[in-house]
Amino acid sequence: MCLFCKIINKEIPSNIILENEKFLAFHDINPKAPVHILAVPKVHVDSFADVSPELMSDMTSFMQEVAREVKIEKSGYRVITNIGDNGGQEVKHLHFHILGGAKLKWGHFSDADTQGHF
Ligand code: AMP
Repeated sequence: MCLFCKIINKEIPSNIILENEKFLAFHDINPKAPVHILAVPKVHVDSFADVSPELMSDMTSFMQEVAREVKIEKSGYRVITNIGDNGGQEVKHLHFHILGGAKLKWGHFSDADTQGHF
């Protein structure tokens, strides 16, 4: 069973923000912003590459609710999902990073060699 499935099953403790029958949101253990939450579907999906539009639809509403819950919906925030090796995905269970609580820098996303893939 993967790490986030264990967190969902409460076999591994987490600091939960919001939960319903389909999704769980909890604090990232190694926060990269004042607010750094992970939102995950309870059903195991490897990554964004495999998620259905139907699940994404509900996931979107859930993440908007999480932002309201931690009161960053007006100040702004960032949603990121890493996909596969080049995307830097470490945990192979679909998760969205919700980052906020401060003005976020953008620069570190441009540190890769921009010389073409295409
Ligand atoms: P990614 O690199 O996109 O796969 O992100 C995985 C995230 O999971 C990282 O930001 C980690 O800090 C976070 N993480 C790993 N283990 C835990 C844990 N036990 N509880 C909360 N967050 C975790």
